[in-house]
Amino acid sequence: MSRIADLLFPPMCAGCGEPVPYPDLALPPEALCPACRKAWDDARAELCVICGKPVSDCNCVPEALGKAGCKSFRKLVFYRPGNREEVQNRVIYRIKDRADASAISFLARELSTAIRKTLNERGIEPNDVFLTYLPRGKRAVLESGTDQAKELAKALSELLKIPLCHVIARKFWHNKPQKLLSTAERQKNAKAAFRLRTTEAVRGKCAILADDIVTSGASMSAAVRLLRRAGVKSFLSVAVASDENNRQPAAKQRSLDGELDGIYARHRL
Ligand SMILES: [Zn+2]
Ligand SMILES: [Zn+2]
Repeated sequence: MSRIADLLFPPMCAGCGEPVPYPDLALPPEALCPACRKAWDDARAELCVICGKPVSDCNCVPEALGKAGCKSFRKLVFYRPGNREEVQNRVIYRIKDRADASAISFLARELSTAIRKTLNERGIEPNDVFLTYLPRGKRAVLESGTDQAKELAKALSELLKIPLCHVIARKFWHNKPQKLLSTAERQKNAKAAFRLRTTEAVRGKCAILADDIVTSGASMSAAVRLLRRAGVKSFLSVAVASDENNRQPAAKQRSLDGELDGIYARHRL
């Protein structure tokens, strides 16, 4: 029935907002029009300077996340802060600014392949894994009507048949957005922002930790440290996008302070 609706009311492209032409009923609904799909595939093929692989095959971990004990980080594209024109940025805004089931399901399908591959490479049994996410602040959820990290984790859980555990909570009084802070403040803020809801069923397991964008890795690192305290044994971080700063070795990275934070603030990220 929903596929008939797709024909009558074609889904809007998550990249440009135009209707996606002639959906193929035999395939899952397309989230991108052909032009945006091409731009998206080009963005997925951008090379990571550290490992030399396309970003969608890269497993490099931002320094902060590595220090916290997370060895794998899968992402689809590099995010360029402050630029609304590029397709990867538009897709991210699409899932941040509203509840867009079609864009979420597209991104989950794209990420699920990378996740399966990493679990295989690391020899992790599906029974030993659970999915979780970094919940968004209540105010952001009220404003946009969605928690995109949670929606992404839900979609991944269904696709991968891996249980979703709501283990991490944001402290209710904690509303300071990461985007307005310097790198050092981000780490301190992230550490204070989250708490464990439960430690049930996570001890000895591998956590797949989902978020939409990883910037400095401060929030992910804080979540990894919390989960380690709950007995989680290993981690796979996954995000739709990694800040393009993370494609460089730490020594060559620009500072995330000042200039970058200004851009994030102006663009409501
Ligand atoms: Zn498009
Ligand atoms: Zn890499």
